[in-house]
Amino acid sequence: MFFNVEGANKKSEIKQQYDVVIIGGGPAGISAAIYALQGGASTLVIEKAIEGGQMNLTDIIENYPGFKTIKGEELSSLMKEHAEQFGADFYDGKVIELKDEDSHKTVVMENGKTIKSKAIIIASGSYPRKLGVKGEEEFSSRGVSYCASCDGHFFKNKKIAVVGGGNTAVEEAVYLSNIAKEVYIIHRREKLRADKLYQDRAFSRNNIKFKWNSVIEEIKGKDKVESLVIKNLKNDEVYEEPFDGVFVFVGLVPETSFLNKDLFDFDEYGFLITDENMETKVKGIYAVGDVRKKELRQIVTAVSDGAIAASHAIREYVNEDQISSTQSINRVRS
Ligand code: NAP
Repeated sequence: MFFNVEGANKKSEIKQQYDVVIIGGGPAGISAAIYALQGGASTLVIEKAIEGGQMNLTDIIENYPGFKTIKGEELSSLMKEHAEQFGADFYDGKVIELKDEDSHKTVVMENGKTIKSKAIIIASGSYPRKLGVKGEEEFSSRGVSYCASCDGHFFKNKKIAVVGGGNTAVEEAVYLSNIAKEVYIIHRREKLRADKLYQDRAFSRNNIKFKWNSVIEEIKGKDKVESLVIKNLKNDEVYEEPFDGVFVFVGLVPETSFLNKDLFDFDEYGFLITDENMETKVKGIYAVGDVRKKELRQIVTAVSDGAIAASHAIREYVNEDQISSTQSINRVRS
């Protein structure tokens, strides 16, 4: 069952002021929207790419309670439809700046539009980290990919490499092993970081092989990827081996390009630091999901972050505001 992601509440024109503006329509942003709307806040979700974020790039999700297995794209559509039913406005566009002004926050869009809000929830997620080796850029979409469910079908019965040792690399290698003839996991250490469940699956596949302690030094080819130059870090041996494609899953880079770096605290990898209410150093601006410094990056923790942030924002900046304005009206009346 798939829903059309072009939802009913997608706006080309939006209000100039909201109670809560959420930047990003992945699971963290959508959950924040549902909780904000449930608290009575007028809520806008701004998305610059496809809704659902990284979740849309995942073929099958197996650890979101209530769904034994569900396609990433499908869960994403269901979540969005849920937020729409509560009355969220959705707007396509790129945020280029956030301003923290005295009585409100302002979101500045690339198209020049500005939106005022009592609270802002940053749910901008992250994007795949690149390897940064020669040939990677040149052969992007011509054999170099960052999305197995998008590009896997191009490699039917081919020999491909998967780089990385985390959950994404190992999970996607298993997915790709159903399509490709051979999948080589190239990992810089001799131990995977992925959860045991995924490791066991990968080890049990005959057509998944491992190149331990190895890194790619160069991606080569004419019109498309034809070979990889691989270095064995244990013995410094460098060799070239034919491959039809390479999938890179070496972690995530937080999407914070639109933030004034002086206003916020970041960890050494650039993830936003928040308190337990998901509030950043700037009062009334929250960070949730993959963009935030955290231990466990999962859909379920993203959803939790969103709920916590929105509930706190409602209590501190939306209802508080409404209560104080009601109080001042009452004071004038009495
Ligand atoms: P990750 O857990 O950060 O793993 C990145 C992997 O890439 C690591 O094995 C790392 O090696 C390797 N690496 C990093 N930079 C490299 C480089 N320049 N060259 C070669 N290898 C490099 O990233 P991820 O797998 O994308 O996962 C991101 C988050 O999403 C994690 O929290 C993960 O648990 C979560 N996730 C969960 C699921 C699930 O539960 N089903 C699925 C996907 C992702 P080292 O091991 O040596 O550091």
